[in-house]
Amino acid sequence: MKIGIVGCAGRMGRMLVAETLTTDGCALIGGTEHAESPFLGADLAALAGIDNAGLHVGSDTNALFAEADVVIDFTLPQATIDHADAAAKSGTALVLGTTGLGVAEQMAVERAAESVTVVQAANYSVGVNLLMALTKQMAGLLDNDYDIEIVEMHHRHKVDAPSGTALALGQAAADGRGVDLQGVSERVRDGHTGERTPGDIGFATLRGGDVVGEHSVIFAADGERIELTHKASSRALFARGAVRSALWCEGKPAGLYSMADVLGL
Ligand code: NAD
Repeated sequence: MKIGIVGCAGRMGRMLVAETLTTDGCALIGGTEHAESPFLGADLAALAGIDNAGLHVGSDTNALFAEADVVIDFTLPQATIDHADAAAKSGTALVLGTTGLGVAEQMAVERAAESVTVVQAANYSVGVNLLMALTKQMAGLLDNDYDIEIVEMHHRHKVDAPSGTALALGQAAADGRGVDLQGVSERVRDGHTGERTPGDIGFATLRGGDVVGEHSVIFAADGERIELTHKASSRALFARGAVRSALWCEGKPAGLYSMADVLGL
């Protein structure tokens, strides 16, 4: 698979370059950054801390999509619109990890998925995807006597909250209970909030240091509490899942797929 990486100088971008260069069956064909990036022209592999690959950071999105079989996007929501449009125009598969998408950005992704293969996941770790499956199952088994709270912590540089993964866990819990997440989610509590409403799904966000990503789903009832927790200790984990998804795209029909599809969960 010929793989291109947009946002290749970012924290995840560098991990993705390293993972692509060291995974059998993958050929890295290039990477882009935005037009003002100080990394334009830098060696892709050297940025990722490995031997020179003879490829340099570019800014021509359409050229990258035209050459690649699949492009991996861990960038910014605004950039994702252009990347989704470029995927549709060139017929290139897209593996999307960017989180915090608004309605317009999500619509662009869904538009692209009408004509190309798109994998979109808020979290590419195998463990978190298992956590989502377990959360859905437990939420379906436990009634509203068990209050569901989702707690996440990430590094100080993260710009969106709650994390895409926390929201996906909330969605999994709502699906398990057969309710609409919008109607029950409690995303911010401050001041005199009154008592907790039965059936609500609460979110709490912590930010600090270099925490890669921690998520807990808490089911709290009178007399007992069940907690499911996942802790990521390396970003390489997400890169591995994204490159695995890129390889999975080969020969798949157009459509919007999740990591659960890739893992066969
Ligand atoms: P980062 O800021 O380090 O990297 C983003 C990169 O994208 C930057 O280098 C930036 O210059 C580049 N970029 C911005 N606009 C661009 C454009 N138009 N074309 C090409 N490149 C462009 O951020 P990060 O920590 O690497 O995270 C990136 C995204 O991935 C975030 O949304 C984050 O939440 C998400 N993320 C998802 C997962 C997952 O498993 N789904 C895991 C980690 C991070």
